[in-house]
Amino acid sequence: MPFVVYNSLSKSKEPFRSLEPGVVRMYNCGPTVYNRPHVGNYRAFLFADTLRRWLEYSGYRVEQVMNITDVGHLTDDADDGEDKLEKQARKEKLDPWQISRKVAEQFFADLRALGVRPAKVYPKASEHIAEMVEIIEGLIAKGHAYAVGGDVYFDVKSFPRYGKLSGNRVEDLEAGSRIAVREEKRNPEDFALWKSDPAHIMKWATRFGPDGFPGWHIECSAMARKHLGDRLDIHTGGEDNIFPHHECEIAQSESFTGQPFATFWMHSKFLQVDGGKMSKSLGNTYTLDDVSARGYTPRQLRFALIRGHYRAPLNFTWDAMKDAASSLENLDDLVVRLRRISNGEGAASDPNAGAEAVAAARAEFEQHLNDDLNVAPALAPLFGLRTKALEGAFGSVAAKHALEFVGRANEVLGVIAVEEQSLDARIDALIQERQAARKSKDFRRADEIRKQLDAEGIVLEDTPKGVVWKRR
Ligand code: AMP
Ligand code: ZN
Repeated sequence: MPFVVYNSLSKSKEPFRSLEPGVVRMYNCGPTVYNRPHVGNYRAFLFADTLRRWLEYSGYRVEQVMNITDVGHLTDDADDGEDKLEKQARKEKLDPWQISRKVAEQFFADLRALGVRPAKVYPKASEHIAEMVEIIEGLIAKGHAYAVGGDVYFDVKSFPRYGKLSGNRVEDLEAGSRIAVREEKRNPEDFALWKSDPAHIMKWATRFGPDGFPGWHIECSAMARKHLGDRLDIHTGGEDNIFPHHECEIAQSESFTGQPFATFWMHSKFLQVDGGKMSKSLGNTYTLDDVSARGYTPRQLRFALIRGHYRAPLNFTWDAMKDAASSLENLDDLVVRLRRISNGEGAASDPNAGAEAVAAARAEFEQHLNDDLNVAPALAPLFGLRTKALEGAFGSVAAKHALEFVGRANEVLGVIAVEEQSLDARIDALIQERQAARKSKDFRRADEIRKQLDAEGIVLEDTPKGVVWKRR
């Protein structure tokens, strides 16, 4: 059964095919690093991770690139407003480079805590200025872009397919336009590729002028091309990226290369709070620390964020977290039980009893994930296996096969505690490292380890016999 995905470009489900057999080139719009990403952002990033894991499960090698936007993303998402990083830098009395370094480090630590498989590269926009300039110059040479003063704009009327992703047609945009018309633009909808601003802190001298910085959209076109080539199989982002960000990426990339940019565009829906978007500007965001302060681990959060369908809005509530945590406990328990049964404890007399249920569970799991990554119903067969295990329906050999299947399924889900032994060993090693750090008076490291363990739900207790730990 082929993997079928909903393509935002055709607005329909299509069988997935990669340009090169066996390899998938995927670009994910990453965070704008002015503030630690919130759990809503992680919904988008965990969708990308689950997609990548499913493709790998299905036998593809995935070349995954997720960018770091550290310049050029303005507060209104289009051509106006302030640079988000510079604004934050002023607030914190730091320079924007310090902000981006600090937030990117937090982002990578969060990704590790959430069990995200690392992408091939996390390119930073500020380190790809030459690649952007190359595309902008090419676009000017081909008549798709024009320079005025120190700014360069993309001429949307030069690309007749503008609007093919979002459905926004230039004429409609013009009619309903409330965009402040800049006199230098040929059409009000033309968007900036490069902007000049002597007051900007993160700025570069180019042939367009002495002090300029890139537009947000050109960054992704340039980084995708540099790390994956002219054509991509999949491009992802949150639903708000469709317009203007991805529409503009398509216009730039396709005008420059003369080829289709991404074959499949996939967009995840927002994580909501009280029916509205979770967003920094609304002040209703939570970070991983907020989640852990409520007693939940990143693993439980990961489960809460991936278990709904990515194209359905998801409401973030503490009740939903509680529900996810207890549901996940059942999946952990499934593994413990299957391990026992496969060792003969409580096994049915026929070693192969229940083997058919294992094969059926696997087929059902794969069928749902092949249907546009439908995680929610794909979990049902796992819970079904637990019911069977509780009923004593498995023989030892079938339980071993079930355990293998759960391990495979967890390659995609990345949430179940399948390797209890090695997990414990890793925790023991961290505790030993913490003891050593304390001995050598490296209290910063010791504290860091305690925090990391705490985030994973491990509580340490000092006893006369030494440090012991338990799961919260
Ligand atoms: P940003 O850091 O604003 O550039 O956003 C990074 C990614 O998070 C983008 O793909 C956004 O579409 C996505 N995103 C932002 N807010 C939410 C939300 N509440 N739920 C899901 N994804 C979001
Ligand atoms: Zn992007």
